[in-house]
Amino acid sequence: MSSISDTLIAWYSPNRRDLPWRKTKDPYSIWVSEVILQQTRVAQGLDYYHRFLQAFPTVQSLAAAPLDDVMRVWQGLGYYTRARNMHAAARQVASEHGGKFPNTYEGLRSLRGVGDYTASAIGAFAFNIPRPAVDGNVYRIWSRIFGVFTPIDTPDGQKELYQIALEQLDKKRPNIFNQAIMDFGGTLCTPKNPLCGRCPVSDICYAFRNNAVPLLPAKCKKVKVTNRYFAYLMVRHRDDTFIRRREGKDIWNSLYEFPLIETRGSTSLRALKKTQEWKEMFGSVAPEVLHVSPCLKHVLSHQHLYVQFYILEVSAAPYFLSTNFLRVKTNSMGEYPTPRLIDGYMAAEPVEKYFLSD
Ligand code: SF4
Repeated sequence: MSSISDTLIAWYSPNRRDLPWRKTKDPYSIWVSEVILQQTRVAQGLDYYHRFLQAFPTVQSLAAAPLDDVMRVWQGLGYYTRARNMHAAARQVASEHGGKFPNTYEGLRSLRGVGDYTASAIGAFAFNIPRPAVDGNVYRIWSRIFGVFTPIDTPDGQKELYQIALEQLDKKRPNIFNQAIMDFGGTLCTPKNPLCGRCPVSDICYAFRNNAVPLLPAKCKKVKVTNRYFAYLMVRHRDDTFIRRREGKDIWNSLYEFPLIETRGSTSLRALKKTQEWKEMFGSVAPEVLHVSPCLKHVLSHQHLYVQFYILEVSAAPYFLSTNFLRVKTNSMGEYPTPRLIDGYMAAEPVEKYFLSD
């Protein structure tokens, strides 16, 4: 009788997705693809994969690039910590490994942002290191096949399912095994409406045989969503506007934005003018309001942002903006990596007309 891994590998051969990172053993390219695919669907990720490798064809070129260039290529992909970590890890490879990607699990795992899953995947695909690459997709698959009801968002559930993945791993072919599992989870045993009728292991799958597919994988935590209210002030002074790079642990670290006032709820221009931030920003300068956008909703994984853009004009540059912000030409905004929200707004609204010289 063939094992589950034999069956999945046999299913994979004729059904494999034709993906560029499957055709290489270069650990750098594999790493780029794995990081992109952590939070991004294959269809969208493909484009970024090509773009990223075109901009930074080697780990040395990534290490030598300024962070702003990396963020600009990553712009629109979201989860920007990934790009910052890749940049830091490339510099680690350059300084600590002589520019050569480490070829052991421990060496890979020591790189910034590389967790167990990514180290195992790069290790298996580039160096045939026998470790299962285990993420949410893999927990889902094994919990359904073996009927594991321990929630996958608990350490106990993850430990139990990792143990199963380890037992099922084809140690002679970890590269093919891990690819087969990824494709199986991405195309057949999907989170919603898995294609059980076409599944090669349905006859032994606990969830299928016991009508428990909708119940597995079990989870115990609900995602808590926070609502936030942003007022972005696009302040025009002559042909210039003011932007700054976001820092700290909040969203969009290292991306550029306009002066921002965050409020506790949706607010009016009148109320905005009474905030401490507005007073600090403009002092005695009274800006003329040229345009107010409708309220836009921007959805992130754990946050819903309600955003309004205000286009303002000042006759004198306010001291606070001049000292805390970068003064840039409005038509050079494209040179700075910005959150997709700002980029999208600038592309959709004809804001340029408010910035044209008289
Ligand atoms: S039978 Fe359905 S639930 Fe079970 S492994 Fe196959 S696709 Fe997944």
